[in-house]
Amino acid sequence: CGITGYIGNESCSTIVAQCLKNLEYRGYDSAGIALLDDSLEVNKRSGEIDNLTVPSTSNATCGIGHTRWSTHGAPTERNAHPHTDCTERIAVVHNGIIDNYEEFKTDLLDEHQFTSETDTEVIAHLIEEALNEDGVDLREAVERVVSKLSGSFAIAVTAVGYDGIVAARQDSPLVIGHDDDATFLGSDVTAFVEHTRTVTFLEDGDIARLTEDGVTILNDGEVVEREPQTVDWDAD
Ligand code: GLU
Repeated sequence: CGITGYIGNESCSTIVAQCLKNLEYRGYDSAGIALLDDSLEVNKRSGEIDNLTVPSTSNATCGIGHTRWSTHGAPTERNAHPHTDCTERIAVVHNGIIDNYEEFKTDLLDEHQFTSETDTEVIAHLIEEALNEDGVDLREAVERVVSKLSGSFAIAVTAVGYDGIVAARQDSPLVIGHDDDATFLGSDVTAFVEHTRTVTFLEDGDIARLTEDGVTILNDGEVVEREPQTVDWDAD
């Protein structure tokens, strides 16, 4: 339903939580946040965003958040996003539906333990497998996995040992917000509009890499340049 993300040089737990609150108006049945430091700290709950215990002492400067409107699996804590792989080093949030998730899940179940009934969780396990291959970084892993998925999706992924967020979309909106010392991600501008109005809307097939050094967008394996736009409408 709603996605948000932050990578910058500030401790971001409360920023990510506030961005999630900004998406509350869309409706949701559960919510969660993953903060990336030396390890991943995942916090998710069914019900209200206010049910989350957001660690204000966290030093994490990268995080992703999600409000879920369930399509596959009941609105429980286990089914709330972010979803992680078996090693709990990869966290994924997803809007939309993965039509062909069952075909992957059947194969993955031989070696991967699933903890939810969602279509989304296959993405975390598929990325884990892709990262096990030599020389594959998170951006490439996401690119490989996304190329196999059918359906509609906006996803944001972060992982231990990786310096940021990788985002991808197909038939579901995602927008990047450019601030002086930080980059934001949102399923819509409302997520982060109090921080920046300079934005880049992602297009279908885009894979965006958000790090402290900035943003790189690839489509079909090629780097694409997109001119950021200024949104001047009032988000309220
Ligand atoms: N299909 C996913 C789920 O049920 C994502 C739903 C959403 O867009 O919030 O968990």
